Amino acid sequence: MFKKFIILFKRLIQIQFYQVFYWISCRINKKKIIPLFKTDCKLIYDHYIKSSYGFKYDQDLIHHREKFNFQEYTFPGYCNVCEVDTHFSVDMKWGGRMEKNLYIHNLRERLECSQCQLNSRQRLSISILKQMITNLKRKVYLMEQITVYFNFVNEYFKNAEVIGSEYLSSSHIGGSYYDDIRHEDCENLSFSDNSVDIIVSNEVFEHIPDPGKAFSECNRVLKKNGQFIFTIPFYSGTYVSEIRAFLDKNGEINHIKPAEYHGNPLSEKGSLVFTDFGWDVIDTLKDKGFKNVRIEIYQSFTKGLLSPQLIFRCSK
Ligand SMILES: [Zn+2]
Repeated sequence: MFKKFIILFKRLIQIQFYQVFYWISCRINKKKIIPLFKTDCKLIYDHYIKSSYGFKYDQDLIHHREKFNFQEYTFPGYCNVCEVDTHFSVDMKWGGRMEKNLYIHNLRERLECSQCQLNSRQRLSISILKQMITNLKRKVYLMEQITVYFNFVNEYFKNAEVIGSEYLSSSHIGGSYYDDIRHEDCENLSFSDNSVDIIVSNEVFEHIPDPGKAFSECNRVLKKNGQFIFTIPFYSGTYVSEIRAFLDKNGEINHIKPAEYHGNPLSEKGSLVFTDFGWDVIDTLKDKGFKNVRIEIYQSFTKGLLSPQLIFRCSK
């Protein structure tokens, strides 16, 4: 108990140091993407959200919504992908709604840059990749292929070997191409051990029946010190992940909670959500052999990242 208290105390001290580092870094290099905050611990996360730092951004976002209470608008800022001053456009697509006479836009999926047309989530992920992929030849595996995101990354990082894939069906062969689409089953990747430098996954793991097995596979195929970044719908208020559905031994889908589907470029019905992730996903990643596991929280009004965005990052 005492040991746990000491660890928690040390982490709280680290936060204070990190905030000073963040403040200085932002003033030295205004254009760099730096997380506001990073942690692997729910207690520390809660502490941050309730702190003056977390409160400030929360208030800034409320003021922004009040000031820009229009159905559609553009907002000036700096795009880290294009590396120019630009305008970000916001509209009601992707679940925008009205709440108490206030337009609540989906700021994660909107804020499209007028130059690169990428939204807030995509720009953040590519900005981080830009900081990860140097001039060295890197093998990068994206868990998507027939998306704007893949096309952009594939074109942008010409020095890197960028491989994308989609899940086609259980009867397709991993690593094979069907009409130029590569099939991969994330629970059974076709890549050999220690062969990939960077894995990127955007909103995929909630759709995998056994995410733990898929995390193991990512760890197996990554080279030593290889990096894994991903986003998932994350329930920061809960510790234990909730299983919404599972596959029985005959491969049939069993629903525990009402079926929920997200958009899938290959299926009109969408992809079924198997898991609502809570903080135990951090423990699962550590159990599967990952180190430096953390959630990074980004938000910047000058870089068109208005709502807080969480990126999971770890290494082998
Ligand atoms: Zn741009």
